[in-house]
Amino acid sequence: MIVLKREIIIVAKVKLYTNKIEQQLLYDTLQSNRDALNAVSQVAFKKGLTNANILQKETYEMVRRNFNLKAQMACNVARSVAGKYKALKTNGKSIVKPIRFQKPELVYSYNRDYSVRKDGKLSLGTLKGRIVISFERKGMSHFFDGAWRFKTMTLLLKKGTYFACFSMSQEVDAIETEKIQQIIGIDLGINFLSVGYDGKKASFVNGREIKDRRAKYQRLRKALQKKQTSSARRRLKHIGRRENRWMRDVNHQVTKALVTRYGSGALYVIEDLTNVRKATERVRKKDRYLTVSWSFHQFRLFLTYKVERAGAHIVAVDPKYTSQKCPKCSHTEKANRIKKMHTFCCRSCEYTSNDDRIAAMNLYYKGMKYLDSQKAMS
Ligand SMILES: [Zn+2]
Repeated sequence: MIVLKREIIIVAKVKLYTNKIEQQLLYDTLQSNRDALNAVSQVAFKKGLTNANILQKETYEMVRRNFNLKAQMACNVARSVAGKYKALKTNGKSIVKPIRFQKPELVYSYNRDYSVRKDGKLSLGTLKGRIVISFERKGMSHFFDGAWRFKTMTLLLKKGTYFACFSMSQEVDAIETEKIQQIIGIDLGINFLSVGYDGKKASFVNGREIKDRRAKYQRLRKALQKKQTSSARRRLKHIGRRENRWMRDVNHQVTKALVTRYGSGALYVIEDLTNVRKATERVRKKDRYLTVSWSFHQFRLFLTYKVERAGAHIVAVDPKYTSQKCPKCSHTEKANRIKKMHTFCCRSCEYTSNDDRIAAMNLYYKGMKYLDSQKAMS
């Protein structure tokens, strides 16, 4: 018998504990890497190169010489640049000027220029060789217990704090289609933290309270940021930690309730947000102060491992049109959704519903389609 396997990929983002010297080193490394990316981007643009190998041959010496990067990092630079150009090309965008790299971030390859040591510390390359640092793993330790395989790691700097985003994978059994008794589409949002649709009814987890509480934290933080005293800075840190702890608890509780409710015969369907930015873009401007992407991301992470642990299944599907498509007649049009009124009204069949449930319904149907395609394959 052939047992089909499938790979689940998650991204675990953790905070790094760094001292002043390490911070400077990481900063210099990120800067150098960014400058190298932009220099290589110039070459790629001028010569019209999108092949990583050719671009690497063309720029490797220059990158090593001018930007002081170690061998593996220099290779990654060409790969990153080529990847960006290729992505634009396949999206049908015309490239009229060199792509600019602005964000302070750096992609590492596992066992080449980063590793996680037996003692749990992170070893990563810098301009001056490897350094070893600890990282926060509260609530995340099960991702580092050996069950998940490390892929790439992205180092990034956000508001003075360094983070590592570990991309990790695990092989799990293919979906046993005959076991699935229930499909649940899960959409995440602002007014409702999550909406689940199981084919009969939708269940809402109200986001209002969460929204209010986050706004309160935000006001508090703003006030403290104005004061430049050291006690204000301490309070600020304290509040940040408290907020994270609270959000984590909420995400744990909600995902646990979902998994308990539907048991092991469930197939959960979520949006595939490989590009995390989408999560923030869906939020209206006036809510922009809520940096939701992080808590969404955490929700998905918790849901994924709880689902797998419960013996249930989860799939991420293409999020295209999930908020515009009519779940009854499939008519897809932007105007179907009347954002101001929080209403969905199909321009073709006049099916009307609260707009928050539409995405969850569409995810449910995408899950059904997915299941059918799996059945057809087996
Ligand atoms: Zn319709």
